[in-house]
Amino acid sequence: MQFRLKTIHGFLLFLFMTMLNAQPQQKVAIVIHGGAGTIEKSKLTPELEKEYRSKLEEALTIGHSILTEGGSSLDAVVSTIAILEDSPLFNAGKGAVFTSDGHHELDASIMDGQSLNAGAVASVKRIKNPILLARTVMEKSPHVMLAGYGAEVFAKEQGFSFVENDYFFTEKRYEYWQKVIEGETGEAEKHGTVGCVALDQDGNLAAGTSTGGMTNKRFGRIGDSPIIGAGTYADNNSCGVSATGHGEYFIREVIAFKICAKMELQGMSVDSAASSTIHGDLTTIGGTGGVIALDKNGNISMPFNTAGMYRGYVGTDGKMGILIFKSD
Ligand code: ASP
Repeated sequence: MQFRLKTIHGFLLFLFMTMLNAQPQQKVAIVIHGGAGTIEKSKLTPELEKEYRSKLEEALTIGHSILTEGGSSLDAVVSTIAILEDSPLFNAGKGAVFTSDGHHELDASIMDGQSLNAGAVASVKRIKNPILLARTVMEKSPHVMLAGYGAEVFAKEQGFSFVENDYFFTEKRYEYWQKVIEGETGEAEKHGTVGCVALDQDGNLAAGTSTGGMTNKRFGRIGDSPIIGAGTYADNNSCGVSATGHGEYFIREVIAFKICAKMELQGMSVDSAASSTIHGDLTTIGGTGGVIALDKNGNISMPFNTAGMYRGYVGTDGKMGILIFKSD
């Protein structure tokens, strides 16, 4: 009797495990950007191009492995963006651009497409990884956005360690700031924000964006990146979006939300929604930049109206792509 019970038990367990395996596993995907602007092949040395490509690859690899190991899209977005923030190559975290008074003020935001929870920080000066603080605002405060001094007091309460503002200094950004001041180059020429959108095994989307803003921005200026709906948006019913470009235009066109709304209300595909928003709405009012967008089925779109945009993805087929120029 006992033997029979054991056999039946074993058989049921086997059946259960087989059924579990038979469940079609949700495929994961991830897409990132490292800013859009006048990025032309002739202006980028082969060495620098290699550095950009390998940093984008490193960030994508980490993010994708979090997803394949069953981690959440939020975890993937935060870890991926933190790697780009720590690199001096991008205008986010280390490598952030200069404000008009010679400092660095950082903005970041994150959104969870399942719950529509969101968190953002603006104008923070001493937080090494603003994306981590944005997530903490989302998860540990009743608010969506904290700015400046208040955001830093909150960070202290949450156990964040601080860096001095000159931690963000890089020679390259300093020289570029000088050029802008001297009128040798247009303010809107180069961007360099970082962003990530991920789809996890549970079918949840998350999006995040982090930036130093625009070179020589007036101190206190806040761009689109920390504004939910402008620089970042994620909704499991449509897609996740992270933007980069001349923030004032992205705010006025509510670019990230508009892409999601076009999908949900007009039944557009992620690619037509994103492309029509960048090449139509944004371009019409004179804005420059681009977005990355990823829908709940893993479809990816990366339109921009500048010469280039640092960007990369790992699709649902597991294949990685890293692109910089328009012609890539
Ligand atoms: N969108 C950012 C801002 O306006 C800048 C960028 O994407 O490069 O602050």
